[in-house]
Amino acid sequence: MPRARHSRCNTPLRVLHVAAEIYPWVKTGGLGDVVAALPAALAAHGADVRLCLPGFPALLDAAPAREVVRLATPFAIERVRIGLAQLPGQPPAYIVDQPSLYDRPGNPYTGPTGADWPDNHRRFALLSWVAAALAAGADPSWRPAIVHGHDWHAGLAPAYLRASGSAAASVFTVHNLAYQGFFPASVFGELGLPPEFFAMHGVEYFGGVSLLKAGLFYADRLTTVSPTYAAEIQTPAFGANLDGLLRARRAILRGILNGVDPKVWNPSSDPALPLAYGVDDAETGKAAAKAELQRRLGLARNEAAPLFGAITRLTPQKGMDLLLSAVPGLVERGAQLALLGSGDGGLEAGFAAAASAYPGRVAGIFGYDENLSRLIFAGADVVVVPSRFEPCGLTQLYALRYGALPLVRRTGGLADTVADATPDALGEGSATGFAFDEESAAGLLAAAGRALVLYGKQADWRRMIRRAMTRDFSWDAAARQYLALYRELVPVPA
Ligand code: ADP
Repeated sequence: MPRARHSRCNTPLRVLHVAAEIYPWVKTGGLGDVVAALPAALAAHGADVRLCLPGFPALLDAAPAREVVRLATPFAIERVRIGLAQLPGQPPAYIVDQPSLYDRPGNPYTGPTGADWPDNHRRFALLSWVAAALAAGADPSWRPAIVHGHDWHAGLAPAYLRASGSAAASVFTVHNLAYQGFFPASVFGELGLPPEFFAMHGVEYFGGVSLLKAGLFYADRLTTVSPTYAAEIQTPAFGANLDGLLRARRAILRGILNGVDPKVWNPSSDPALPLAYGVDDAETGKAAAKAELQRRLGLARNEAAPLFGAITRLTPQKGMDLLLSAVPGLVERGAQLALLGSGDGGLEAGFAAAASAYPGRVAGIFGYDENLSRLIFAGADVVVVPSRFEPCGLTQLYALRYGALPLVRRTGGLADTVADATPDALGEGSATGFAFDEESAAGLLAAAGRALVLYGKQADWRRMIRRAMTRDFSWDAAARQYLALYRELVPVPA
């Protein structure tokens, strides 16, 4: 049954984005980049957008938060202070300033040892609860018509909206279905939801609680970050046990491709590069970056050696085990490899061993290093993204912009954004990279072999770089699609 929307939905449309990450202050992966770009792009299209973010120290340090309200919540003894901050270049942000939950070392989800915080359910339930409170008028001067949550951290927002009978509509975006915010059933009592919400048709998931499932079940619209992934997650192979629910809700599920923020990812203005470059002087700019990269990483100073790069979280998703197995074959064919990654200890050890086995040919840097990632995008000839699944993938989009041709597994957003260098695509000038299907080192090496043959034909290679760098993945197109979606929920008044 359609629920009444409150009358403030006249233009401009008020939209609250709820998320755990925002670049450059808090980022563990692509989510942070999207949250930094999409709300601002929507605001540029005339929406009245605000953010709702946890009070992580990096955010509190970035801008003063003026107190808007203090709220009694189910998650802390003391009232929780909600501040409004103006992060540079961003729409206004409500900051949930609760130091006992957010003022901690480590990344947003884990402590310094890499283990999840045991109270993550409460930390992120609070974030969603505050979003619902704002929809209920906690800030009388600004009340959203739409609450748009990102990933499991904001998955409970649609549930709290439903529980409170809110007039606000909800949109929930899945950036990665593999992260489900799963907790034992015993935490349910701490979430402040009506008891009947602990059900198969609710937040219950295989005997526990999934915050991701809450979002998938209660939101009015679902989106994910590429059309191919939107189709894939409705199948058992990619659905992470949620494919049944996603099939049932497919009428409200859309795939909207992420964009690239040209202010942040642009080789012609990137201070991390030794020499700025654009499409017309890519050759010189990339040669300078390659020389600098080889020097910094101890790779042989050889301009002609094809340099493969990888910038990645080291998790099974990213298929870096395939790349590791392919290292001897790549080196044999004359390639160099620069890998920047962090995560799985076994993979780090594996790439460290490969670097020792092939000095001057293979370099492994373990950790998170934004500037080095940019130098790799610029200095590499090929950037390898052999993911087992990939909701959208930003890495290959950044590689395209920096003229490093992506070598990808044909899945999810990788399939949607990289045009494989088939003879036809080469003939018509549409090729931008290399794609393979088989989930194996042999599959990767076969595509790498095709890349290396083309690398030997410099005129063809340069044409591909030009095509790659001029592909348009602007946020503009995505913003228009999200706005159209919002308007399904809150139509323009007649
Ligand atoms: P995911 O969000 O699954 O990690 P994406 O490709 O969507 O994958 O986004 C990854 C983002 O994180 C890119 O901006 C990539 O450059 C960056 N990144 C990943 N690992 C590292 C690292 N070790 N150092 C610097 N940047 C990294």
